[in-house]
Amino acid sequence: MTKEVQIHDKHFSLFISEEEIFGVVKKMAKQLESDYQGKDILLIAILNGAFMFASDIIKSIKRDAEITFVKVSSYKGTQTTGRVDELIGLNNQMENRHVIVIEDIVDTGITIDKVISLIKANDPASVEVCTLLFKPEAFKGKHKPKYICFEIPNKFVVGYGLDYNELGRNLKELYQLKEA
Ligand code: 5GP
Repeated sequence: MTKEVQIHDKHFSLFISEEEIFGVVKKMAKQLESDYQGKDILLIAILNGAFMFASDIIKSIKRDAEITFVKVSSYKGTQTTGRVDELIGLNNQMENRHVIVIEDIVDTGITIDKVISLIKANDPASVEVCTLLFKPEAFKGKHKPKYICFEIPNKFVVGYGLDYNELGRNLKELYQLKEA
């Protein structure tokens, strides 16, 4: 029987199990260890959604690795008409360091494009994105993530840190919205 959960008004069915997620996350950590051998790395995890993925990936990296957590904020400036975005909590030195952005999901790619340009303003040696989930059908951004754990269909998912109206983050597995 397929496992199902209800969050608010919506029904979701089991999509990717805890074991499968953790297996892929461990392999991803090994890949990062090998690609960044001898390099000074800084992991920047994007809150809130990436907290669980970031926790599992950093636990699986068996070498020195600094991690920090930031929040993306968009607000209307009082003096300008355009949107102003910033990364709240980003105080780390980045010059000559290799930055790996840890994201939960890259959908249209709009968020990650903004995050990358804000990080590049700090002159890191390199910036790459490591995402748990990637929706190729929805993507129209400039920066396709180099490190992708799962490519998924263009359907809404929750669990393993991802929410539906703030609930569902505590689920250990990933769930997909059921068709009505
Ligand atoms: P993008 O800017 O790439 O379109 O969207 C990124 C953000 O949209 C993600 O960080 C996430 O907050 C939200 N998002 C996109 N797709 C999903 C999804 O399937 N489930 C959840 N929970 N959030 C999503």
